[in-house]
Amino acid sequence: MKTVFEPFRIKSVEPIRLTTAAERRQLIREAGFNPFRLHAEDVQIDLLTDSGTGAMSSEQWAAVMRGDESYAGARSFFRFEEAVRSIFGHKHVIPTHQGRAAEKLLCSTCLQADSIVPGNTHFDTTRANIEHTGARALDLPIPEARKVRSEHPFKGNIDLEALEECLKHHPGRVPFVLVTVTNNSGGGQPVSMANLKGARALCDKYHVPLLLDAARFAENAWFIREREAGYEGHPPEEIARELFSLSDGAMMSMKKDAFGNMGGVLTLNDGELASQVRNLLILTEGFPTYGGLSGRDLDALAVGLREILDPDYLQYRIRSTAYVGWHLEAAGVPLLTPFGGHAVYLDGRAFCDHLSNEQFPGWSLSVALYCHAGVRACEIGNVMFGHPEAEKEEDRWPVMDLVRLAIPRRVYTQSHMDYVIEAITELYEMRHEIRGLKFVDRPAVLPHFTATFAEV
Ligand SMILES: *Cc1c(COP(=O)(O)O)cnc(C)c1O
Repeated sequence: MKTVFEPFRIKSVEPIRLTTAAERRQLIREAGFNPFRLHAEDVQIDLLTDSGTGAMSSEQWAAVMRGDESYAGARSFFRFEEAVRSIFGHKHVIPTHQGRAAEKLLCSTCLQADSIVPGNTHFDTTRANIEHTGARALDLPIPEARKVRSEHPFKGNIDLEALEECLKHHPGRVPFVLVTVTNNSGGGQPVSMANLKGARALCDKYHVPLLLDAARFAENAWFIREREAGYEGHPPEEIARELFSLSDGAMMSMKKDAFGNMGGVLTLNDGELASQVRNLLILTEGFPTYGGLSGRDLDALAVGLREILDPDYLQYRIRSTAYVGWHLEAAGVPLLTPFGGHAVYLDGRAFCDHLSNEQFPGWSLSVALYCHAGVRACEIGNVMFGHPEAEKEEDRWPVMDLVRLAIPRRVYTQSHMDYVIEAITELYEMRHEIRGLKFVDRPAVLPHFTATFAEV
């Protein structure tokens, strides 16, 4: 059979409020043309993010009831620790309330103003946390990653030559190398095992620790199984363990590949570093056995971590994302290829080729998509990463201006996706009517979350 159906049944439902295009035009105006400022109730299909938006399973809800809310040494923590350690393998398991808290703890502990953190492509909060310490976040993706359209199976790879250059020329200034699996900002693209082994070898040569940003490690493992020689048909769990075994530690937003609505973790082999981090954790997150989470969260995450590696789930996950990509591609819509694991990315500049970079083609497209169909998507481009004030034109805009359609885990069915496909196809046919935008207010840090705009 060609059809890959959702490998679950629906036990509890959440109604979607339907809205009209006229209502939505008013609502987005009131929200300063920023989809992040909309009320969720006013969104029909929410593809803003796959972060914390997944549906928990009946087993996870059962685990919630088992949550032990003891302040210190709760049973929930030990179940969480065991689940994380059985996959990650690192000695120290430190829960945090979400991924960026792990980033903040690690960056505050290890970075100085002259530090450099090379990676394939840092996620926005990771970059912000690195830069907040004065250090430099250095993206070293392979050249192929800068092309919107490509057939490269592992566009998430780090450029090993560039990494070696960096390590060679800055001895003592690189506290760790951070590889993000899958590469979210680079389009949800996987990193190959061979590439990670290459990074490991360089880190060994220059005596620098290698860490993973493992938010989507299971999706990355599935891509390795599908695309990398020697891994066909291997259990995703085994591949995931091998991935982690190449690293000295990891940070993870458990709102992604742990089916959590909230949660994060930092794992480390270095005991000295772990104890420094724990001291800071007590100051900002909580006691080391809960790290800002409830016992019930820890238990739900422990179950989620096991469920995410189910091959039936991962096959459905990757295929159902590609389903959206295939249909949009067939309609001629410009997309980033290969399709990502958690998201399909529209090419904002090609879609809105009548708009200049200053008019934010990707962001304008995301606003138009909301007005047209009540679908909320997220720009990853000129607004998120641009420096409109930069002197040189080439420093102003990122290489790509994308609109990410992130697909929450186990939440939407195929007919929801058919609606999204139809909406984008229609919008593409009337693309020249999409109006450009300009900033009204632009916050200095992570501007996309709260900025407001006006139509030009
Ligand atoms: C989501 C994400 C983060 C940040 O995690 P939060 O849980 O949102 O704080 C870091 N890195 C990557 C790759 C992510 O996708």
